[in-house]
Amino acid sequence: MSEKFDVIVIGAGPGGYVAAIRAAQLGLKTACVEKWVDGKGAPVLGGTCLNVGCIPSKALLETTHKMHEAQHGFAAQGIVAENVHIDPKQMVARKDQIVKNLTGGIAGLFKANGVTLLQGKGRLLANKQVEVTDKDGNVSLHAADNVILAAGSVPVEIPPAPLTEGLILDNAGALDIDEVPARLGIIGAGVIGLEMGSIWARCGSKVTVLEAMDSFLSVTDQDVSKEAYKLMTKQGLDIKLGARCTGTEVNGSEVTVKYTDANGEQSLVVDKLIVAVGRRPLTQNLVSDDSGVKLDERGFIFVDEQCRTDAPGIYAIGDIVRGPMLAHKASEEGIMVVDIIAGHKAQLNYDCVPNIIYTFPELAWVGKTEQELKNEGVAIKVGKFPFAASGRAMAANSTEGFVKMIADEKTDRILGVHIVGGIASELIAQAVIAMEFCATAEDLQMTVFAHPTVSEAVHEAALAVDNHAIHIA
Ligand code: FAD
Repeated sequence: MSEKFDVIVIGAGPGGYVAAIRAAQLGLKTACVEKWVDGKGAPVLGGTCLNVGCIPSKALLETTHKMHEAQHGFAAQGIVAENVHIDPKQMVARKDQIVKNLTGGIAGLFKANGVTLLQGKGRLLANKQVEVTDKDGNVSLHAADNVILAAGSVPVEIPPAPLTEGLILDNAGALDIDEVPARLGIIGAGVIGLEMGSIWARCGSKVTVLEAMDSFLSVTDQDVSKEAYKLMTKQGLDIKLGARCTGTEVNGSEVTVKYTDANGEQSLVVDKLIVAVGRRPLTQNLVSDDSGVKLDERGFIFVDEQCRTDAPGIYAIGDIVRGPMLAHKASEEGIMVVDIIAGHKAQLNYDCVPNIIYTFPELAWVGKTEQELKNEGVAIKVGKFPFAASGRAMAANSTEGFVKMIADEKTDRILGVHIVGGIASELIAQAVIAMEFCATAEDLQMTVFAHPTVSEAVHEAALAVDNHAIHIA
């Protein structure tokens, strides 16, 4: 048994590594267990987000957006850029370098803050003991006053489309495609499917997205989903709703995808198929039966609002617990838990967690949708402002989309903000801050926004809540 720690964190994704750094900053003796190793056996930090999720996908989205804009948006601005095309191998190499820099940076932060890295697979035993099995099979035992479980998630695999090297890929394999597939199939029109589809449609792939549900992006406000569907199909994504994959057949370098839709049995031949039907918590063998931690039937760890499990001193955060599978939600849960361990008062406002889909235009939202509020019987006021009426958006050549703000009819408090727009991911932070401070639409109406900025659309949407927008009739 090694020396006792104040905190042991299992998993070094955005939930775990942030929790470990915060714990060390607060003077707690902290260790973080991580099982991921590279080809040379060295630990890989950063989890899904940095290695095969948020960061690499955004690197590819940025590159392909720039190329697409050069091809389709430069000429109208008087910029002559002939023969602009993608070099997929260089694009992927740049993405890999960004991942390497960031994951290496976390190792540096661990060192600087005094976090002990325990390489290996962690398992929680009874009495807050953690068993670590390293890559060579050596087992060590560590004790702690508090344990934070942050093991993250893995892609869901479906029997009709088993992963097949180079042809049928999950999200990790999809990020390593280094030649433009002429025909790309995607199963699942969720966040990951739409982001991957956008990347390759911009590069010229014929992209077909099969979505089993009859509705598109049902989690978003209906104005957002309608606008997004219109814009994405215009960009060339063939999104088939109500299309359920029933089987796949690999023939040489092609995949035949069989699916059923309202018209019966269909098939589609593609060069690569990405399976993006969701992710599941990675909790198998993470805790022993006598650890006191309980899981639900889908494998998520039961926690309360402050991420406490059923076992005293054991917490769970991020993708392994209820709530949206988002990096920033995982990190903020990590900080909340460590603050509680250190004796501070802490909570997380789950009503103000922003969601973003990084297509172009981007989709971003926080709070409730118009449909949710109407179903709950809340009387609301809605203001909407299109980017087509924004001078700065025109100058930026990014006039698609809108800002939609929903406020309570009686109290004027902002209840939800929904944005489709070029920099929706940045604008949504304004709405998050406003809602976190319980702002009313009037608070934003009385706030001075610089001119000309794309942010003025947020101001105008707040004004539109009371039919006072200046730049729309
Ligand atoms: P993870 O990041 O999954 O990290 C868990 C870590 O624990 C891993 O390193 C794993 O190796 C380790 N581990 C697991 N079990 C053990 C064990 N027993 N012992 C030791 N170590 C263990 N979210 C966003 O907010 N924004 C985005 O733009 C975004 N884009 C995404 C794009 C893609 C393609 C994907 C797949 C996901 C994306 N996500 C995004 C989701 C985001 O990556 C996750 O929500 C986030 O990584 C969850 O953090 P986590 O710390 O809970 O888990």
